[in-house]
Amino acid sequence: MTTIGNNLQGVLDRIAQACASAGRPPHSVRLLAVSKTFDAAAVREAARAGQHAFGENYIQEGVEKIAALRAPGSGWERPLEWHCIGPVQSNKTRLVAEHFDWVHTVDRLKTAERLSQQRPEHLPALQVCIQVNVDGGANKAGVPPAEAQALVRAVAGLPRLRLRGLMAIPEPAPDFAAQYAVHRQARELFERLRAAGDAGLEAFDTLSLGMTADLEAAIHAGSTLVRVGSGIFGHRSYPAR
Ligand SMILES: *Cc1c(COP(=O)(O)O)cnc(C)c1O
Repeated sequence: MTTIGNNLQGVLDRIAQACASAGRPPHSVRLLAVSKTFDAAAVREAARAGQHAFGENYIQEGVEKIAALRAPGSGWERPLEWHCIGPVQSNKTRLVAEHFDWVHTVDRLKTAERLSQQRPEHLPALQVCIQVNVDGGANKAGVPPAEAQALVRAVAGLPRLRLRGLMAIPEPAPDFAAQYAVHRQARELFERLRAAGDAGLEAFDTLSLGMTADLEAAIHAGSTLVRVGSGIFGHRSYPAR
Protein backbone atom coordinates (compact mmCIF):
# COMPACT_ATOMS: atom_id res chain seq x y z
CA MET A 1 0.00 0.00 0.00
CA THR A 2 1.11 3.58 -0.58
CA THR A 3 1.83 6.01 2.25
CA ILE A 4 -1.44 7.83 1.63
CA GLY A 5 -3.29 4.52 1.56
CA ASN A 6 -1.67 3.49 4.86
CA ASN A 7 -2.39 6.83 6.48
CA LEU A 8 -5.99 6.68 5.31
CA GLN A 9 -6.41 3.24 6.85
CA GLY A 10 -4.88 4.53 10.08
CA VAL A 11 -7.39 7.40 10.23
CA LEU A 12 -10.29 5.04 9.48
CA ASP A 13 -9.07 2.84 12.35
CA ARG A 14 -8.97 5.86 14.69
CA ILE A 15 -12.54 6.75 13.68
CA ALA A 16 -13.74 3.17 14.23
CA GLN A 17 -12.08 3.02 17.65
CA ALA A 18 -13.51 6.36 18.71
CA CYS A 19 -16.99 5.24 17.61
CA ALA A 20 -16.59 2.04 19.62
CA SER A 21 -15.43 3.80 22.76
CA ALA A 22 -18.20 6.41 22.42
CA GLY A 23 -20.78 3.64 21.97
CA ARG A 24 -21.70 4.84 18.48
CA PRO A 25 -22.32 2.71 15.37
CA PRO A 26 -19.14 2.34 13.28
CA HIS A 27 -20.59 4.04 10.22
CA SER A 28 -22.12 7.03 11.96
CA VAL A 29 -19.07 9.20 11.17
CA ARG A 30 -17.94 10.08 7.65
CA LEU A 31 -14.40 10.98 6.73
CA LEU A 32 -13.69 14.08 4.64
CA ALA A 33 -10.11 14.01 3.29
CA VAL A 34 -8.77 17.58 3.31
CA SER A 35 -6.49 17.81 0.29
CA LYS A 36 -5.64 21.53 0.36
CA THR A 37 -2.06 22.21 -0.83
CA PHE A 38 -1.73 18.65 -2.17
CA ASP A 39 -1.97 17.95 -5.88
CA ALA A 40 -4.42 15.98 -7.99
CA ALA A 41 -2.09 12.96 -7.92
CA ALA A 42 -2.39 12.80 -4.12
CA VAL A 43 -6.19 12.96 -4.38
CA ARG A 44 -6.14 10.18 -6.98
CA GLU A 45 -4.03 8.04 -4.68
CA ALA A 46 -6.52 8.50 -1.84
CA ALA A 47 -9.41 7.79 -4.23
CA ARG A 48 -7.74 4.56 -5.33
CA ALA A 49 -7.45 3.62 -1.66
CA GLY A 50 -11.23 4.02 -1.36
CA GLN A 51 -11.74 7.65 -0.26
CA HIS A 52 -14.73 9.41 -1.87
CA ALA A 53 -15.14 12.86 -0.27
CA PHE A 54 -12.49 15.60 -0.43
CA GLY A 55 -12.29 19.04 1.18
CA GLU A 56 -10.62 22.17 -0.19
CA ASN A 57 -10.07 25.55 1.48
CA TYR A 58 -8.85 27.69 -1.39
CA ILE A 59 -11.54 27.94 -4.03
CA GLN A 60 -9.36 28.45 -7.09
CA GLU A 61 -7.00 25.64 -6.12
CA GLY A 62 -9.98 23.37 -5.49
CA VAL A 63 -11.63 24.14 -8.81
CA GLU A 64 -8.41 23.32 -10.66
CA LYS A 65 -8.12 19.98 -8.87
CA ILE A 66 -11.77 19.13 -9.52
CA ALA A 67 -11.25 19.83 -13.22
CA ALA A 68 -8.01 17.83 -13.33
CA LEU A 69 -9.68 14.78 -11.80
CA ARG A 70 -12.69 15.00 -14.10
CA ALA A 71 -10.59 15.28 -17.25
CA PRO A 72 -10.45 12.21 -19.49
CA GLY A 73 -7.23 10.33 -18.83
CA SER A 74 -6.89 11.71 -15.28
CA GLY A 75 -6.37 8.17 -14.03
CA TRP A 76 -9.59 8.26 -11.99
CA GLU A 77 -12.94 7.48 -13.60
CA ARG A 78 -15.66 7.82 -10.96
CA PRO A 79 -17.09 11.12 -9.68
CA LEU A 80 -15.70 12.30 -6.35
CA GLU A 81 -17.58 14.45 -3.83
CA TRP A 82 -16.07 17.91 -3.28
CA HIS A 83 -16.58 20.01 -0.15
CA CYS A 84 -15.63 23.67 0.16
CA ILE A 85 -14.37 24.21 3.73
CA GLY A 86 -12.65 27.59 3.35
CA PRO A 87 -13.97 31.14 3.56
CA VAL A 88 -16.23 32.13 0.64
CA GLN A 89 -15.91 35.77 -0.38
CA SER A 90 -18.72 37.27 -2.48
CA ASN A 91 -16.64 37.19 -5.64
CA LYS A 92 -16.07 33.43 -5.23
CA THR A 93 -19.65 32.24 -4.71
CA ARG A 94 -20.17 31.48 -8.40
CA LEU A 95 -17.14 29.15 -8.55
CA VAL A 96 -18.36 27.35 -5.44
CA ALA A 97 -21.93 27.05 -6.77
CA GLU A 98 -20.74 25.72 -10.12
CA HIS A 99 -18.07 23.24 -9.01
CA PHE A 100 -18.59 21.97 -5.46
CA ASP A 101 -21.12 19.50 -4.02
CA TRP A 102 -21.01 20.85 -0.46
CA VAL A 103 -20.02 24.05 1.33
CA HIS A 104 -19.41 24.02 5.10
CA THR A 105 -18.63 27.67 5.68
CA VAL A 106 -21.83 29.66 5.17
CA ASP A 107 -22.05 32.25 7.94
CA ARG A 108 -24.01 35.09 6.28
CA LEU A 109 -27.36 35.15 4.52
CA LYS A 110 -25.93 37.20 1.66
CA THR A 111 -23.46 34.42 0.79
CA ALA A 112 -26.21 31.79 0.96
CA GLU A 113 -28.49 33.83 -1.31
CA ARG A 114 -25.77 34.20 -3.92
CA LEU A 115 -24.94 30.49 -3.79
CA SER A 116 -28.62 29.62 -4.27
CA GLN A 117 -29.03 32.04 -7.20
CA GLN A 118 -25.84 30.85 -8.86
CA ARG A 119 -26.32 27.09 -8.44
CA PRO A 120 -26.73 25.77 -12.02
CA GLU A 121 -30.09 24.20 -12.86
CA HIS A 122 -28.55 20.97 -14.14
CA LEU A 123 -26.91 20.24 -10.77
CA PRO A 124 -28.62 18.96 -7.62
CA ALA A 125 -29.07 21.45 -4.77
CA LEU A 126 -25.84 22.55 -3.10
CA GLN A 127 -25.43 20.86 0.31
CA VAL A 128 -24.78 23.47 2.98
CA CYS A 129 -23.57 23.62 6.57
CA ILE A 130 -23.73 26.79 8.65
CA GLN A 131 -20.39 27.63 10.27
CA VAL A 132 -20.74 28.61 13.93
CA ASN A 133 -18.18 30.41 16.06
CA VAL A 134 -18.68 28.28 19.16
CA ASP A 135 -15.69 29.52 21.14
CA GLY A 136 -16.35 33.16 20.42
CA GLY A 137 -13.03 34.30 18.91
CA ALA A 138 -13.51 37.97 17.97
CA ASN A 139 -11.91 37.75 14.54
CA LYS A 140 -13.16 34.35 13.63
CA ALA A 141 -15.48 33.28 10.86
CA GLY A 142 -18.78 31.74 11.84
CA VAL A 143 -22.12 33.00 13.05
CA PRO A 144 -22.37 33.64 16.81
CA PRO A 145 -24.43 30.85 18.42
CA ALA A 146 -27.12 33.32 19.48
CA GLU A 147 -27.72 34.26 15.84
CA ALA A 148 -27.55 30.75 14.43
CA GLN A 149 -31.26 29.99 14.53
CA ALA A 150 -32.24 33.06 12.50
CA LEU A 151 -29.64 32.23 9.87
CA VAL A 152 -30.65 28.56 9.79
CA ARG A 153 -34.31 29.55 9.20
CA ALA A 154 -33.42 31.91 6.39
CA VAL A 155 -31.02 29.53 4.64
CA ALA A 156 -33.51 26.65 4.95
CA GLY A 157 -35.89 28.58 2.71
CA LEU A 158 -33.51 29.06 -0.21
CA PRO A 159 -34.52 26.97 -3.22
CA ARG A 160 -31.20 25.73 -4.59
CA LEU A 161 -29.57 24.89 -1.26
CA ARG A 162 -30.11 21.88 0.97
CA LEU A 163 -29.35 22.69 4.58
CA ARG A 164 -27.42 19.78 6.09
CA GLY A 165 -26.15 20.96 9.47
CA LEU A 166 -23.47 22.85 11.35
CA MET A 167 -19.71 23.14 11.12
CA ALA A 168 -17.19 24.56 13.59
CA ILE A 169 -13.43 25.08 13.77
CA PRO A 170 -12.61 25.61 17.45
CA GLU A 171 -9.23 26.93 18.52
CA PRO A 172 -6.74 24.13 19.18
CA ALA A 173 -7.20 22.92 22.75
CA PRO A 174 -4.52 21.19 24.85
CA ASP A 175 -6.22 17.96 25.83
CA PHE A 176 -9.19 15.70 25.29
CA ALA A 177 -11.34 17.29 27.99
CA ALA A 178 -10.88 20.81 26.64
CA GLN A 179 -11.46 19.67 23.04
CA TYR A 180 -14.56 17.77 24.10
CA ALA A 181 -16.00 20.73 26.00
CA VAL A 182 -15.97 23.04 23.00
CA HIS A 183 -17.17 20.40 20.51
CA ARG A 184 -19.98 19.63 22.92
CA GLN A 185 -21.22 23.22 22.64
CA ALA A 186 -21.58 22.78 18.90
CA ARG A 187 -23.43 19.52 19.45
CA GLU A 188 -25.85 21.11 21.89
CA LEU A 189 -26.62 23.93 19.49
CA PHE A 190 -27.14 21.36 16.72
CA GLU A 191 -29.61 19.42 18.89
CA ARG A 192 -31.51 22.57 19.90
CA LEU A 193 -31.91 23.60 16.26
CA ARG A 194 -33.08 20.14 15.27
CA ALA A 195 -35.54 19.99 18.15
CA ALA A 196 -37.02 23.35 17.10
CA GLY A 197 -38.25 21.49 14.01
CA ASP A 198 -38.34 24.44 11.62
CA ALA A 199 -39.39 23.88 8.01
CA GLY A 200 -36.54 22.97 5.69
CA LEU A 201 -34.59 20.99 8.30
CA GLU A 202 -35.59 17.56 6.97
CA ALA A 203 -31.98 16.82 5.99
CA PHE A 204 -30.32 18.58 8.95
CA ASP A 205 -28.18 15.58 9.91
CA THR A 206 -24.56 16.69 9.70
CA LEU A 207 -22.23 17.95 12.42
CA SER A 208 -18.88 18.78 10.77
CA LEU A 209 -16.43 18.74 13.68
CA GLY A 210 -12.94 17.45 14.32
CA MET A 211 -9.60 17.38 12.50
CA THR A 212 -6.43 15.27 12.72
CA ALA A 213 -5.57 16.42 16.24
CA ASP A 214 -8.98 16.19 17.89
CA LEU A 215 -11.14 13.75 15.96
CA GLU A 216 -11.61 11.43 18.97
CA ALA A 217 -12.98 14.25 21.14
CA ALA A 218 -15.20 15.42 18.27
CA ILE A 219 -16.63 11.92 17.77
CA HIS A 220 -17.34 11.58 21.50
CA ALA A 221 -19.14 14.92 21.35
CA GLY A 222 -21.31 13.78 18.41
CA SER A 223 -19.52 14.72 15.19
CA THR A 224 -20.92 13.00 12.09
CA LEU A 225 -18.16 14.16 9.72
CA VAL A 226 -14.49 14.66 10.56
CA ARG A 227 -12.23 16.74 8.29
CA VAL A 228 -8.75 15.23 8.22
CA GLY A 229 -5.83 16.63 6.23
CA SER A 230 -2.34 16.08 7.61
CA GLY A 231 -3.30 12.71 9.11
CA ILE A 232 -3.83 11.44 5.55
CA PHE A 233 -1.63 13.51 3.25
CA GLY A 234 1.21 14.45 5.62
CA HIS A 235 2.65 17.78 6.65
CA ARG A 236 1.54 20.81 4.60
CA SER A 237 3.92 23.44 3.32
CA TYR A 238 1.98 26.53 2.34
CA PRO A 239 2.94 28.25 -0.89
CA ALA A 240 2.91 32.05 -0.84
CA ARG A 241 -0.52 33.39 -1.76
C1 LIG B 1 -6.94 22.34 7.02
C2 LIG B 1 -8.28 22.11 7.60
C3 LIG B 1 -8.64 20.86 8.13
C4 LIG B 1 -7.67 19.70 8.26
O1 LIG B 1 -6.73 19.96 9.24
P1 LIG B 1 -5.66 18.84 9.72
O2 LIG B 1 -5.20 19.33 11.02
O3 LIG B 1 -4.61 18.81 8.68
O4 LIG B 1 -6.40 17.56 9.80
C5 LIG B 1 -9.93 20.70 8.57
N1 LIG B 1 -10.85 21.69 8.50
C6 LIG B 1 -10.54 22.90 8.01
C7 LIG B 1 -11.58 23.95 7.94
C8 LIG B 1 -9.26 23.15 7.56
O5 LIG B 1 -8.96 24.35 7.08
